[in-house]
Amino acid sequence: MYTPCPCCNSGRVITKNIGRTTGGVIGSVGGAASGAAGALSGAEIGGALGVVGGPVGIALGGIAGAILGGLFGGAAGGLAGATIGEQLDERVLNNYECLECGHTYSVNS
Ligand SMILES: [Zn+2]
Repeated sequence: MYTPCPCCNSGRVITKNIGRTTGGVIGSVGGAASGAAGALSGAEIGGALGVVGGPVGIALGGIAGAILGGLFGGAAGGLAGATIGEQLDERVLNNYECLECGHTYSVNS
């Protein structure tokens, strides 16, 4: 998206993406946490299924459930957080910074 500086009309403009970065981190942490919670029930299910396979089956089922829950939770949370943060960047934060005059601004202002 080409958005010249409203101050000096320069095209040398960078996007800071603070919201997207922050949102991604927060989302990853939150997602991993909820993923970990899901992993506990995943571990229970895996453990229940693994009873057939004995102690090793219980352990493997629990570990697999925990890993999958954490990974998917973190990835999904990070994606959701980044999307929300991107909206924040676009609408709330001054996401654009002019390299010529140092002016910061958002698209809507
Ligand atoms: Zn400028």
